[in-house]
Amino acid sequence: MKAHTKSIRAAHGTKLQTKGWQQEAALRMLMNNLDPDVAERPEDLVVYGGIGKAARNWPAYYAIVESLKNLENDETLLVQSGKPVAVFKSHENAPRVLLANSNLVPAYANWKTFHELDQKGLMMYGQMTAGSWIYIGSQGIVQGTYETFAEVGRQHFNGSLAGTITVTAGLGGMGGAQPLAVTMCGGVCITIEVDETRADRRLATGYLDTKTHSLPDAINQAKQAKEEKRALSIGLIGNAAELLQLMAEQSFVPDVLTDQTSAHDPLNGYLPKGMSLQAGKEMREKDPEALITKAKASMAAHVKAMLKLQEMGAVTFDYGNNIRQVAKDEGVKNAFDFPGFVPAYIRPQFCEGKGPFRWVALSGDPEDIYKTDEVILKEFAENRHLCNWIQMAREKIQFQGLPSRICWLGYGERARFGKIINDMVKSGELKAPVVIGRDHLDSGSVASPNRETESMKDGSDAVADWPILNAMINAVGGATWVSVHHGGGVGMGYSIHAGMVIVADGTDEAEKRLERVLTTDPGMGIVRHADAGYELAKKTARDKNISIPMLDQ
Ligand code: NAD
Repeated sequence: MKAHTKSIRAAHGTKLQTKGWQQEAALRMLMNNLDPDVAERPEDLVVYGGIGKAARNWPAYYAIVESLKNLENDETLLVQSGKPVAVFKSHENAPRVLLANSNLVPAYANWKTFHELDQKGLMMYGQMTAGSWIYIGSQGIVQGTYETFAEVGRQHFNGSLAGTITVTAGLGGMGGAQPLAVTMCGGVCITIEVDETRADRRLATGYLDTKTHSLPDAINQAKQAKEEKRALSIGLIGNAAELLQLMAEQSFVPDVLTDQTSAHDPLNGYLPKGMSLQAGKEMREKDPEALITKAKASMAAHVKAMLKLQEMGAVTFDYGNNIRQVAKDEGVKNAFDFPGFVPAYIRPQFCEGKGPFRWVALSGDPEDIYKTDEVILKEFAENRHLCNWIQMAREKIQFQGLPSRICWLGYGERARFGKIINDMVKSGELKAPVVIGRDHLDSGSVASPNRETESMKDGSDAVADWPILNAMINAVGGATWVSVHHGGGVGMGYSIHAGMVIVADGTDEAEKRLERVLTTDPGMGIVRHADAGYELAKKTARDKNISIPMLDQ
């Protein structure tokens, strides 16, 4: 077995190591996913999200690299759970790579079966963007969080979080985006975090403004900033279950309330109340069952406090960590009285085909991204929310690996921007082709009943035909690589989702492919939501002339 010895970084510039820009893009994005500045544990091929990997093992990684280097412009490479398994003759407008990751027959779709197969070397966990080679570091997370809080502002506070206080918990890998997202929306954020080192990390990277150990101090600072309509984020060191209870007792009611502790994992992700970090660590080793019991009981108290504060007036929602389910299992009958974030805030955007669109400069030159930023500000000037995001992203977010950008664009906007990028590559304004893709968490590409498809209007939460249709139509349209995954984000058995990446290489052929794929991909989101009976999606379909045979039946 060839050992992995040195850091992997994607090539920059215009010199190809492959037989075409599409193959080159796949190769550079695979490598970019494993760049030490981007990936969590590149030495284990782990990109993010627990054990989300870019390739099954090192021999498979090297075989993918070799295959991409040799791949002709009319061939397609097939990848099965991170292992290259075939190269077929296809045609120039076909995808260069097709990937299927972590898929199991439904009756076997659980962690036990997956782990057995993984240990035998027959599978890998693809997460969402890890196994489909379009992870761009934490920029993707910040923007999704920002979109959620921005929508909270629009729905409840006249368009902005300025002059409001949000209380949440968890300053971990993803949760750490919350304070920055809230302040980007103009608000004040108190984030409760039990592990001070996590707060320190967010302070060091500019995601958090200040920290305190005192509840009264946090409340005073927050109230003052609220009064002055000044954006401020405060890390409050302590246990969320305890501190939320205290807030309710002291009648301190935040305007917005949520939680991003790792409640989905009661053993490793959630510290029970009344316990120090050290005591938790010891109990995890000595008596894991007892720790799980305590954590679940604490989560029940935590959700009860959230329900109480909701009753007192806080706009309250679940942030995708399954805390309501645990509380319900513990006997909190009304745990689901507050909604999940997708049905509450994100779904209207999904109904318009809006979702996390992203692009990456294969030149490696940040100037190429800045030029595309400028184009967004000019061409989409009427979309103030979008322009605001681009300006803030430019100012506050550092690039990781190949320079990239993310913003939520909808049906019509994506195809339009794709053409603009392709024209910029064609004219030489950009130094090299650009990769365009998205997270799997998008409008028409995921079935996940506890998250993205929670509480669908027609009860179709668990229907997984949609992401499969999404992948198929994008492949037919000529996306550069297309993937179908299982389990990302919420674990085995709980989701099916599809990825799509397409390259703007400045050619006329790419222009046609971009037009097709950047129309069908968000179009699937509108179709899926129109089919579920959402009026906004039906209206969007009519306004945009999307042909849906049974739209009015
Ligand atoms: P993480 O494990 O890196 O961080 C969790 C943090 O919570 C840790 O810093 C931990 O110290 C803290 N914590 C644990 N118990 C606590 C308690 N009782 N009081 C206060 N703090 C406590 O996890 P992460 O990557 O930040 O993700 C957090 C959760 O949010 C996960 O469950 C994840 O699935 C979910 N999530 C969902 C979405 C979504 O799109 N729906 C997005 C991001 C995160």
